[in-house]
Amino acid sequence: MRPDGDAIGSVAALTLILRKLGAQAEGCIPDPVPWFYREVSGTRVLRTVEELRGKEFDTVVVLDSSDLDRIGDAVELFPARTPDVVIDHHVTNSGFGLLNLCAPDYAAVALIVHEIGKRLVEYDRELAELLLLGIATDTGFFKYESVDAQVFEAAAELARYGARIQPIASAVLEHRTPNTIRLLTEMFHTLHLELGGKLAYAYVSAGMLRRTGCREEDTEGFVGELRAIHGVEVAILFSEWPEGEVHVSLRSKSYADVSRVALRFGGGGHPRAAGCTLKVTRLEEAIYPVVAAARGLLEEAG
Ligand code: 5GP
Ligand code: MN
Repeated sequence: MRPDGDAIGSVAALTLILRKLGAQAEGCIPDPVPWFYREVSGTRVLRTVEELRGKEFDTVVVLDSSDLDRIGDAVELFPARTPDVVIDHHVTNSGFGLLNLCAPDYAAVALIVHEIGKRLVEYDRELAELLLLGIATDTGFFKYESVDAQVFEAAAELARYGARIQPIASAVLEHRTPNTIRLLTEMFHTLHLELGGKLAYAYVSAGMLRRTGCREEDTEGFVGELRAIHGVEVAILFSEWPEGEVHVSLRSKSYADVSRVALRFGGGGHPRAAGCTLKVTRLEEAIYPVVAAARGLLEEAG
């Protein structure tokens, strides 16, 4: 659900790797793939749950998901409800597969898929670019603390197979439309700063989405704009969509472990990027408890 570049890139890449190995593989992302990721050509391999319904699968692999809820309706594609293999890098992974490979020291699941894929098949540009998409997006385009020599080495290997960072960066970082800018402006009107500027939060309501003609997927990257404010350690974006549901995106800059806050509200994620979804009738019912928990986290951290 709410797929990011790593989920999209690693699922599409593994699909292509398995096909190169001769398997009849399908790659599924349940929620809509945000339109701008389609500019990375290999993402065309991805199917919706609807498109795959009725097919039978011998083996199910789930990627980049910390628990079974994260794959949404895709669970309907395998009645046993237990994936054969889970490959992930979330510290909060619940180990819901028969075989679980969870490596939190990997900056992206695409890096794990690359470790496996490079030993098995010959890459082409399309496959290499999908893996680079996953690595680039989950490292904030090579600027998070998770970026080490291994990340640059993998990127260099992929570049040798023809992967280009420019179209990936352009698709992911330069896709804002006039409507999304209007929504971003409205979001900034809701900005609150607390604890001397260490905590920033804002919201996007269902009404704001309607008014600006945007969809929920258009808020991709918004929480990063909150974290980008000088002095902010924890940034939180509350997005109301669909009505009755609030998705909470949490980010931290250098020391606060926001996955602890997300876990407390039934979500999960990484120390620097986590999320959860609350079923509430009003936005405030999500904002008050989550902001209180984040305040506590920051006060505890000093
Ligand atoms: P985002 O804020 O971009 O939606 O998600 C940030 C991170 O938190 C991602 O790694 C994502 O997997 C995780 N995450 C977001 N929402 C949820 C959720 O509802 N449950 C769990 N377990 N993880 C989430
Ligand atoms: Mn990931």
